[in-house]
Amino acid sequence: MFVRLGAPKSGDWLASFREKPETLNQFKEKIKAFARKSNEQRNTIRIQPLESLDDAKSKLAETLMSFTEAFFQSNVEQNSPIEFNKIMASSVPRRDDNSQFDCDGLLSDEIIPPPGPRDLLVAGILFSKDLYHGKLNFVFGVGSSSKRKGVYSFVRFGSEQEARTNPSLYLKRCLRLMAHELGHIFHLQHCIYYRCLMNGSNSLEESDRRPLHLCPLCEDKLEAALKVYNPGFYLKKYHADLLQFFAKAGLQEEVEWTQKRLHGSDMTAL
Ligand SMILES: [Zn+2]
Ligand SMILES: [Zn+2]
Repeated sequence: MFVRLGAPKSGDWLASFREKPETLNQFKEKIKAFARKSNEQRNTIRIQPLESLDDAKSKLAETLMSFTEAFFQSNVEQNSPIEFNKIMASSVPRRDDNSQFDCDGLLSDEIIPPPGPRDLLVAGILFSKDLYHGKLNFVFGVGSSSKRKGVYSFVRFGSEQEARTNPSLYLKRCLRLMAHELGHIFHLQHCIYYRCLMNGSNSLEESDRRPLHLCPLCEDKLEAALKVYNPGFYLKKYHADLLQFFAKAGLQEEVEWTQKRLHGSDMTAL
């Protein structure tokens, strides 16, 4: 069910970046410090839209919330959208035509409120504006484990027209971004072992090659991270909830994979 990563092709993420290996035990050691500071009161992932939502965006935001709920086995709530005028009136740096905004500026408490006592993290989302960060011309998003905050944009996943003509490709790109990036906030680093949702990617093409599921090692790490907040985390329920989500969203390939994972004999692979 799981495919080992082969040698990277020229242009692939692993051809350009050296990623450190990390075992499950090393991961558990790493999250100990965070576990000491956290508490079981935290159970909510808060989604903060950074623009007003029309019907199509509201529907996508709801779908993202159901997926996030299943993927991180957490309560998910949505804040009222922040009006675009507020961002325009703020000191968030932006590029000339106001189509691209600086991630650090958006992550300031002035725009995205800090997590409340019951919040695991706050994720700012943008549908029609682009992001840049530092010297990088554009980024899909940026997150911080210590601030428990991130900001993500779906604008590069296709025009509204493309989203209408190939809705499942567009949806999968959005879901992949959410799960991968929020996975980083839960301390998962890039996976170098298998084809996995946590593989790094240098391009949309490479990103599209990533599956919408974790490899067994990253799944064990996510389980360890989520158990800090949710000691009742149960892997079969995790897969059953994802199966239900994929069926409702009409993502057949993911339905079939998750069915196999759920009913297969290798629930404890590795
Ligand atoms: Zn990443
Ligand atoms: Zn992995």
